[in-house]
Amino acid sequence: MTVMAAEKTALLQIMEELQSLETEGMRRRLKTVTGPQRSETTMAGRPMTILCSNNYLGLADHPRLGELAVDATREFGCSSGASRLISGTMTLHRQLEEELAAFKGTEGALVYNCGYMANLGVLSTVVGDGDIIFSDALNHASIVDGCRLSRAEVKIYRHGDAGHLAELLRRHGPSYRRRLVATDSVFSMDGDLAPLPEIVALAKEHDALLLVDDAHATGVLGRGGRGSASHFQLPPDSIDLLMGTLGKAMGSCGAFVAGRREYLDYLINKSRSFIYTTALPPAVLGASLAAVRLLREEPELVNELRQKVSYFRQGLRKLGFEVADDPTPIIPVIVGNAARTMQLSEQFLRAGIFIQGIRPPTVEPGSSRLRVTITRDLSRARMDEILAVFSSLRDSFPPAVSG
Ligand SMILES: *Cc1c(COP(=O)(O)O)cnc(C)c1O
Repeated sequence: MTVMAAEKTALLQIMEELQSLETEGMRRRLKTVTGPQRSETTMAGRPMTILCSNNYLGLADHPRLGELAVDATREFGCSSGASRLISGTMTLHRQLEEELAAFKGTEGALVYNCGYMANLGVLSTVVGDGDIIFSDALNHASIVDGCRLSRAEVKIYRHGDAGHLAELLRRHGPSYRRRLVATDSVFSMDGDLAPLPEIVALAKEHDALLLVDDAHATGVLGRGGRGSASHFQLPPDSIDLLMGTLGKAMGSCGAFVAGRREYLDYLINKSRSFIYTTALPPAVLGASLAAVRLLREEPELVNELRQKVSYFRQGLRKLGFEVADDPTPIIPVIVGNAARTMQLSEQFLRAGIFIQGIRPPTVEPGSSRLRVTITRDLSRARMDEILAVFSSLRDSFPPAVSG
């Protein structure tokens, strides 16, 4: 008989797994930002430039968002009180949905608590047993999880390869009840674009539904940040289910699905991640509303972001880094080895620059990278200083990334 209570077997196993993650250099730890979310902030009280946030337009601490968040709270309180279908639909939900639909040029929009829940909710509702999903190999984890939850058959097409998608659509034809194509418009770890015009045409030709995830395109691409459809000059109704998020460029929190009324009504009736959760509170809705209005009134914010993105991409290329000229603020600088990536991230931290290293399972083994993101509130002077640090660490990157 043991005197001390033994730890539970599951706990011992978990401790062992954490230890082996540590040994492999794969253990993740949270880093605390002690100031507001903006490019120049503090970590552990020390000045720090954040080069890994998705706050692309720098709206997270914009006074107009804060003011409407406070006004909304004063007028409507702190909570929505219930799920949207119980007592949780408030004037602000309606207003935000109307303004989002007008912004995107769609018949309607339906607000979800976040993009992860929106993708899960759409996929598990619109397709199911007996259906099939065609999904890009590099789609976001929330699409991957939504595919699993849906119980539909899933076919993965090669990243960005419309030819492969066409082949799969031809091979898996009318024996399915419904077919759905799902793609990110901007890929979150690579910053490249899906070939949307081709995908739209294929979905139409094959009578398949199309879900497009505009998480990194909303507020970034297209006229005044209207997203990927606008960027490619596609009519808004060429995408059946357009998912966008409000926590990235829009500086708030939450997500929406835009499209035809029938699809949205179907989601209201059947989507579990919409139905079984307490709706977003007034403060968040107020901030989101302010962001949509700000973009409508000051579309030049998006141009300012674009100029900074293009300046930084060119700067990296001049230093000999292999960097594509995609029009997005996500710039992967490939390192390869996971441990080496994290060491480089540490070196940047010591220089007052926070660039998150991204490693498996988020990306494929051997493709670990520094994922640089550019935000509108970065100054030119600071970008030059950061480029100088990249230059000084140039030899620490493997020759494979040499230009
Ligand atoms: C961030 C992200 C999501 C999830 O959105 P949240 O609102 O953060 O939950 C979905 N899809 C993509 C491509 C994303 O980058």
